[in-house]
Amino acid sequence: MPITANNPDRKSWLHVDKNSDFPIQNIPFGVFLTRDDIITIGTRIGDTAIDLGALHQLGYFKDIPLTDDIFLQDTLNDFIADGRKTWRAVRNKIAEIFDAENNTLKDNLKHKEVVLFRLDEIEMQLPVQIGDYTDFYSSIEHATNVGTMFRDPDNALLPNWLHIPVGYHGRSSSIVPSGIPVHRPKGQTLPAGATEPVFGPSRLVDFELEMAFITTDANDLGEPIPVDEAEEYIFGMVLFNDWSARDMQKWEYVPLGPFLAKSFASSVSPWIVTLDALQPYKVKGPKPLKKQLPYLQQTGEKSYNINLEVAIQPEKHKETVVSRSNFKHMYWSMSQQLAHHTSNGCPVNSGDLMGSGTISGPTPDSYGSMLELSWRGEKPVKLDDGTERKFINDNDTVIMRGYCENNGTRIGFGEVSTKLLPVFEPKKK
Ligand code: MN
Repeated sequence: MPITANNPDRKSWLHVDKNSDFPIQNIPFGVFLTRDDIITIGTRIGDTAIDLGALHQLGYFKDIPLTDDIFLQDTLNDFIADGRKTWRAVRNKIAEIFDAENNTLKDNLKHKEVVLFRLDEIEMQLPVQIGDYTDFYSSIEHATNVGTMFRDPDNALLPNWLHIPVGYHGRSSSIVPSGIPVHRPKGQTLPAGATEPVFGPSRLVDFELEMAFITTDANDLGEPIPVDEAEEYIFGMVLFNDWSARDMQKWEYVPLGPFLAKSFASSVSPWIVTLDALQPYKVKGPKPLKKQLPYLQQTGEKSYNINLEVAIQPEKHKETVVSRSNFKHMYWSMSQQLAHHTSNGCPVNSGDLMGSGTISGPTPDSYGSMLELSWRGEKPVKLDDGTERKFINDNDTVIMRGYCENNGTRIGFGEVSTKLLPVFEPKKK
């Protein structure tokens, strides 16, 4: 089935600003609470949110085999489990309904009243119930920077790194949507020069600029996914801020890897941009520096040209952009990550989320964490209000954005914006 929804010449009868992340070529999926307190699955064109549950009840998807309640859910998991053919048919149909040449819904005031919402009338929710969350470590620039700082500049990459898309299993219970503030965590750290650890607020809270992909039911126990088929099982992508407490991480990570330094919170952008919508922005990724094992050898373009930026907004001041990077820098592709993840037969399910790992580019202004931008705190980052940051302060808001652009068509992810609150204080009894 062709992806007619991607037609770059199509215009919508809904208003779309020139620089909007959400022209009719995007058609992302999300979950929102309406002004009537109803939870529904929806999409967005320009600054209009569209209730897909209501559209389906009104018969607009009658040519597509869908269960009656597929959009009347508080997560996208069941829709995602329906598979790529269904996602594609639904996106194509939405493009048709909102095409500037199609008057059916455009001229039906009664229908529009129940289907369309202004953004200030809705509240975005977590789009999927995330069963399992895996975080990779797939940027060679990030891995090299961290290895240089913490171990040995001459052997910054560990010997396995060029052979394995390294990853670890994270916690899905602390993943929150954009707009939900998170607390500075407390934990164990080893102060400089000390021989015994202390317990208290982390002093080095950091963001990690990542993207994440969300999968459908991909395989049965024991069944690996071939690398060149992996994209069939990827529903779409979100922006992902993988909050990290660097002082806790440094003390706890040997020998089993990240644990409490990472599991206190991660934040996602609420609209899942489908892999179908991202097809026009495919590019070839970096050339492998070492021959990869056959199950990781991929053909064709498996990377995506997605511009990324991070801003820090202090309380009561405007934001400063502190990093500009691009998803295309990732050394290991999502296909290689998914092929590797399932190479031992581990099942991947609808709604699983896979983080890319921090996406650092080759230049210091493209690093994807404060750890790298401030080089462990040795080079503080200046903000527009005259203050400096080595890491993130209480009441700072961290904002990540991403978009793709070519031949005059732009689609984007919106943003993931999260305020860092002071440590949690128990309510006084
Ligand atoms: Mn991470």
